[in-house]
Amino acid sequence: MIPDFAPSPIAILSALPQEQRGLIELLHMPRKVNHANRDFWLGDLHGQPVVLALSKIGKVAAATTTTALIERFGVRRIVFTGVAGGLGAGVEVGDVVVATDFVQHDLDASPLYPRYELPLYGRTRIACDIFLSDLLFEASCAALASESLGIHRFCNARVHRGLIASGDRFVCGAEESRRLLGLMAQAGHDVQAVEMEGAAVAQVCLDYGVPFAVMRTISDRADDSAPFDFPSFVEKVASPYAQNIIEAFLNLLSKK
Ligand code: SAH
Repeated sequence: MIPDFAPSPIAILSALPQEQRGLIELLHMPRKVNHANRDFWLGDLHGQPVVLALSKIGKVAAATTTTALIERFGVRRIVFTGVAGGLGAGVEVGDVVVATDFVQHDLDASPLYPRYELPLYGRTRIACDIFLSDLLFEASCAALASESLGIHRFCNARVHRGLIASGDRFVCGAEESRRLLGLMAQAGHDVQAVEMEGAAVAQVCLDYGVPFAVMRTISDRADDSAPFDFPSFVEKVASPYAQNIIEAFLNLLSKK
């Protein structure tokens, strides 16, 4: 079903300035508003009113930005573009994961609640909006196949769909990521990627009834080389990926 398209802006959220840079360059009639100690960029992208924002890093910061986007800027759809560590088998650097749903890997109120369950929500995972996620998947496939990524294009890059785990920790050890993957699998969660913000965005969107979708480019494998893979990837590749995928996404959205 196509959601109700009110003329409210669509929010495009990134975690890091390097991920957002290319998007600001695309903005028509940009206007910067500082609110809650953050810069929000208002303008038009492909004829659509948008607000670009940085979640900053971690779940609390991401929840603050998401709340501000909804309460102050009146957004009714949120799309997140960022990077993540690949955990699932075959989820490699340069691939994209479009989230189906989110879990917090560092949430543990046991024995009061089952491990990973959101206390008082009666659930562990929060699903993304299917309509927006389908578009984001289509846009990611198109962007990865296009020549416009130039030298940043990874041969054999794949677009995956699946569960993403968020937590307030940069996961960077082969042993640690194996353990995390194993514990989550034991609890029935087949995690494809790990990052630090998505589940917080998801929780705020659930509370407000705002549809959201998330794509993460894999910057590292959350292993011992992650501290080296991550910075160079973010510097060189995250921005053109976000730029190309969001352009393709807005293009597809304008045709719906
Ligand atoms: N000092 C760095 C910190 C980045 S933290 C900087 O400011 O540049 C890592 C960011 O990338 C977070 O936004 C997180 O969502 C994502 N990320 C990428 N790889 C990750 C991993 N292996 N574990 C957790 N988060 C990861």
